[in-house]
Amino acid sequence: MKRIAFFPGSFDPITKGHEDIVRRAIPMYDEIIVALGVNSSKNYMFSFEQRLKWIEDTFTDCPNIKVISYEGLTIDACKKYNAKFILRGLRNSNDYEYEKSIAMMNLALAPVIETVYLNTRPEWSAISSTIIRDIIKNQGNSEAFLASGVQL
Ligand code: ADP
Repeated sequence: MKRIAFFPGSFDPITKGHEDIVRRAIPMYDEIIVALGVNSSKNYMFSFEQRLKWIEDTFTDCPNIKVISYEGLTIDACKKYNAKFILRGLRNSNDYEYEKSIAMMNLALAPVIETVYLNTRPEWSAISSTIIRDIIKNQGNSEAFLASGVQL
């Protein structure tokens, strides 16, 4: 059976930190699904189409990476795509506490799906999509922090 990992997020926009986590996980899985979560009650800076395109453009060189979007519970989307692992990146202890509660709930709802974490590289651990959006809003240069497929 193929080992499939699901990397969910809002990617508003996709950053060097996201890209690094996915690329480092490539040797661990047969396929990684980078999944753009759609939450209709959330306000995004970049459109759905734009965020999806940037993710696709970031991983065009990676045949084992598939880019999709989904609505609803992450575990339901994992089941749909036959993914037994949810991949997440950890920047600091706040991320850990937050991720841990989601992972515990997901494990209770879907015991066959495991959440797997990779620590962020130190050089990308201060990057968040929120800070990048702030830089962009204030006409700063965020290029160094954006994933390779992002063209502002
Ligand atoms: P969400 O809306 O689920 O928080 P994000 O797009 O912000 O989605 O993040 C998706 C995943 O990427 C999460 O596991 C998050 O911890 C991780 N992540 C976010 N920023 C970084 C970073 N700079 N380095 C590594 N992982 C990151």
